[in-house]
Amino acid sequence: MRIPLLDFGRIAPDEKGELESAFRRVLESGHFILGEEVAAFERECADFLGVAHAIGVSSGTDALLLSLESLEIGPGDEVICPSYTFFATAGSIARTGAKPVFADCCPGCWNLPPQEVRRKLTAKTRAIIPVHLFGQPATMTNLLAVGQEAGLAVIEDAAQAFGASSDGQKVGGRGLLGCFSFFPTKNLGALGDAGLIATQDGALAERIRALRVHGSRVKYRHEWIGGNFRIDALQAAFLRARLPRVEAALEMRRRNAALYEEAFRASGIAALSPEPCRCQGEERVAPKVTSPLLLPRNDRGEHTWNQYVVRYPTDRDGLRRFLSEEGVQTEVYYPLPLHQQPCFLDKGREVDELPVAELLARESLALPIFPGLSPGEIQRVVDLIVRFVSQKGNEA
Ligand SMILES: *Cc1c(COP(=O)(O)O)cnc(C)c1O
Repeated sequence: MRIPLLDFGRIAPDEKGELESAFRRVLESGHFILGEEVAAFERECADFLGVAHAIGVSSGTDALLLSLESLEIGPGDEVICPSYTFFATAGSIARTGAKPVFADCCPGCWNLPPQEVRRKLTAKTRAIIPVHLFGQPATMTNLLAVGQEAGLAVIEDAAQAFGASSDGQKVGGRGLLGCFSFFPTKNLGALGDAGLIATQDGALAERIRALRVHGSRVKYRHEWIGGNFRIDALQAAFLRARLPRVEAALEMRRRNAALYEEAFRASGIAALSPEPCRCQGEERVAPKVTSPLLLPRNDRGEHTWNQYVVRYPTDRDGLRRFLSEEGVQTEVYYPLPLHQQPCFLDKGREVDELPVAELLARESLALPIFPGLSPGEIQRVVDLIVRFVSQKGNEA
């Protein structure tokens, strides 16, 4: 039995039918870039997210880049972001000419802690980009407070957390700008590349709409230097077909996370990761845990479990190889933290030590959790891990 990290083929027949009719609708309209389909998609996303404006763009990466450009962030500026995230978060900052300043992550929830942001503030800091990592909301209330105190823009990288919420609000709608990706592995996946920017700010929304088409509001008159950041009508139509099902898909992810936790706890080899979340400022000492496998916690808000990431300090790579031989696909998010990436090292910058990011890069392993995964498959993944971990334990 092969268990993939994500099986794109497992689309319910009725959903397939809806995707096909979306394709036919666009084909027959003859309108393939922006237009009615995109406008309708943007309205539906704005409603879903509870924001005034949603702007469809070409990818999550482009959503980040466009957000930074709309704030005229560039050379001489600094932007604080976590080191333990997908490359695009920091890559977008660097592409504007600004300097990404890497912060360590919280040992509990693995998100950007407000006190780490405070430590990294300088006179050049213009913005902070918290990431709702693996689908779990960062502590927006506290991060927004730091942003407000220091006069900084808060741009949410919500690429992995479409539909997640905290304090009764959807993520991506609380910062000045919120960036989403519809890459096929994300909570809401297109059949190709697509992204979205959410904001309550009408003036910024207007500027972003212009920057999306080479900085022009009136054809062939360019007020700013923008680019081609357009979303295809076809992707917008596919996403419209899928949006009404996204809550059900998130429920399945939550169910799968609960099944993993239950099965792992019953196995006796695993316990919830003991380090408390430090994002609210409290400094509690982690209780001693002797279990070899550490499970992810839900510290805040409505987690969407875009990834289910366990830690196995003893031999993560060995476990991964074993699972691969048994037909179970896993992934390491992320094997090299961004502050250690070659492209950020050779600029003569001092290399920080960010111990939590470095630890997670060594120990973490993402297991399959996509909505179509069956309880039997989850049990098989757990059984295989128990077998490997017990064997390792006996060897030791
Ligand atoms: C996927 C992802 C992005 C980039 O989105 P693309 O649509 O692939 O460009 C940015 N940030 C994070 C945290 C992501 O996971």
